[in-house]
Amino acid sequence: MTNTETIFTFIDEKAGKEQGNYLDGIISACESWLSGTETPNIKNDVTKEEIRRGLQLAILKGMKENSQPHHQMTPDAIGILVGYMASKLVQTKKDVTLLDPAAGTGNLLYTVMNAMEETANASAVEIDDLLVRLAAVSAELLEQPVRFYVQDGLRPLLVDPVDFVISDLPVGYYPDDDNALNFEMMPAEGHAYSHHLFIEQSMNHLKPGGFGLFITTVNLFESDQAELLQKYLKRHALIRAIIQLPDSLFKNVAHAKFILILQKPLENLAAKSAPDVLLAKVPDMMDKGLMSQFFRKIDNWIEEM
Ligand code: SAM
Repeated sequence: MTNTETIFTFIDEKAGKEQGNYLDGIISACESWLSGTETPNIKNDVTKEEIRRGLQLAILKGMKENSQPHHQMTPDAIGILVGYMASKLVQTKKDVTLLDPAAGTGNLLYTVMNAMEETANASAVEIDDLLVRLAAVSAELLEQPVRFYVQDGLRPLLVDPVDFVISDLPVGYYPDDDNALNFEMMPAEGHAYSHHLFIEQSMNHLKPGGFGLFITTVNLFESDQAELLQKYLKRHALIRAIIQLPDSLFKNVAHAKFILILQKPLENLAAKSAPDVLLAKVPDMMDKGLMSQFFRKIDNWIEEM
């Protein structure tokens, strides 16, 4: 058995025996592992990615059994792409700081942190208490330094400006109109889109020159509120890349997403003309040749920055 399989089997057996929710059972299994009461029989050279994948398999099983509309873990294929790009964008930076304002299980955040060679410090915000507890035990097992906030990610955040915001944004209307009034992208009539407000909140929490890597809905620039978004981006952000993901990653093509990379302008950059936008399409991910061409394109783009 691989380490990932051993970890999944250990968690699965313990979580299955727990009364009640399987996801709560995962938390108990991880707590036993952390305290040393019961541990999986893994090899000493276990990697953080093997631990993350073992946990991810168990969480996916738990989410299937106890289906909730907002329980949507970011698929690994997307996490790995975002991790690759973020780790390249770090360049020579030290003491990198990250924020995910809608962190869910933390799977996307940990994929990115594991991909970074330097240890990064992160802040993770999530409104669902169960997901935060899952994310917190996972961070401990992965030995990743993460600070958690159980709250609405669109309320004021006690987080210092960060180098990177990474997030698979919740898509749809934001119900709290009173709070939405604090954002430029609140429309004159009707509810604001939460994915718009999350972009605005993220830009507010980036250091000048910092990057936001967002996984968001394909119709972002075509919705009835797209004009508000365009105006906001013109004033506050540089669009650096738009990366189309293969339809095969999504069960329903109507729910397809893309990766949007924004940069918060440096003060002295604001007056200069906007840089070129990288427009790329991720090829069939099973085709190694096409994928290495795609990664070369990303590498060249980052070198030319
Ligand atoms: N990247 C995450 C992962 O790998 O597990 C998945 C993120 S999921 C697409 C979006 C998350 O946003 C959900 O976990 C949902 O509970 C959370 N969310 C929705 N509205 C929120 C809000 N106002 N504040 C904080 N979190 C919110």
